[in-house]
Amino acid sequence: MIMMPRLDAEKTELLFWDNSYMKEFESKILDITKKGVVLDRTIFYPTGGGQFSDIGHLQLKSNKDIRLNVSSVEKIDGKIVHIIQEKQLSKLKISDIIIGRINWERRYNLMKAHSSQHVLSAMIVKNANIKTSKAVIDVSGVSIHLDKTIAKEKLIAALLETNKILSSELEIKTNIISKEEIPVSLRNNLRGHLEEIASNKIRIVSIKGIDDSLCGGTHCKVTSEIGPLVLNDFKGDVIAYVFGDAALEKMTNLSIGAITTAKLLASKPTKVFQRMEKVIKEFNEMKELNYQLVKSVVKSQMAEIKKTPGQIDAFQILMGDFSFAEKKHVLQELGELPDEFLAIFIVKGPILLITSTSKKLPANKLIQLFIQQTKNNGGGSPTVAQSSISNPEKDLKIVSKIIADFKQ
Ligand SMILES: [Zn+2]
Repeated sequence: MIMMPRLDAEKTELLFWDNSYMKEFESKILDITKKGVVLDRTIFYPTGGGQFSDIGHLQLKSNKDIRLNVSSVEKIDGKIVHIIQEKQLSKLKISDIIIGRINWERRYNLMKAHSSQHVLSAMIVKNANIKTSKAVIDVSGVSIHLDKTIAKEKLIAALLETNKILSSELEIKTNIISKEEIPVSLRNNLRGHLEEIASNKIRIVSIKGIDDSLCGGTHCKVTSEIGPLVLNDFKGDVIAYVFGDAALEKMTNLSIGAITTAKLLASKPTKVFQRMEKVIKEFNEMKELNYQLVKSVVKSQMAEIKKTPGQIDAFQILMGDFSFAEKKHVLQELGELPDEFLAIFIVKGPILLITSTSKKLPANKLIQLFIQQTKNNGGGSPTVAQSSISNPEKDLKIVSKIIADFKQ
């Protein structure tokens, strides 16, 4: 599925096309551009077809002290440019012979990533008849973008088959042929876009009986090198996964997580998700029940409080502890207060909630006086104000005293 490097537009021989396991090579500098050097041959894979480039270094053969970092490799104006820091480029001249080395650990992971993508894309075609439109192939994981949404069951089937293939020793072969040489049997089943390749030379990457794909990327020799594949994310038409050691780690953590959760839910690890759905449903029912219960308790308690208002100096006062209830429920049940009334409640938090219909002592004024004494945080409007509290009983006494001492 990956676009082929256009051989006739480039001067660099791509050594990784024949052998992706080369870690070191010798080459001649053909050109030096603003950004880096062009070589007559290379093992560095240039960014393209969804696969990130190799990194590494180039060393001058005649003076091994000169060693330059290659931070990436890019196709620029039809040339494959090994990107090197500008100030380092003056150390090189055209026709110099260099020895190049790639960061092998990174490359090998990219090979595994890329090869796994071929297998999964092929299995998605087989199980769901959906093509891959784009793949992002990185060391840490791969994401595959599909032409359309895949059903979960079909993805599961594709993943199972992929993992079976990845645990068996199937050879991954590369063939460079001309377009006319494509076997008739392959023409209709070849993944990739033949029409997009300008060159007559094409490269087919094949896993026997599994996949044949037009591709210029780097791959492993055998499928078992890749290791298992585990999903990271799944959004209908985008599938993200990790592979190899990272997949083993994820699988281990997921299975331990499932077992631990299963024990908490008194279930079996394989039934954790169904059990979870049931528990969440029950939890929501309980929440609704609890909500109704709280509402009715607030209602009856508020009715009692309203029957016998207290009095401090000139102020009529309603006071109560609703620390089990949300502020909005308490305000709802309180309703409208008569003139020159103060309502002082503890609500869930715990929060000291004050409403006032008094012009002499508005709610925000009372809270301000309370905060001055207690150093708590709070504020509000003349009709409703609140403050955080730590000791409901003590704080209610403080408020009562503030009202009693209030000089009009
Ligand atoms: Zn490929």
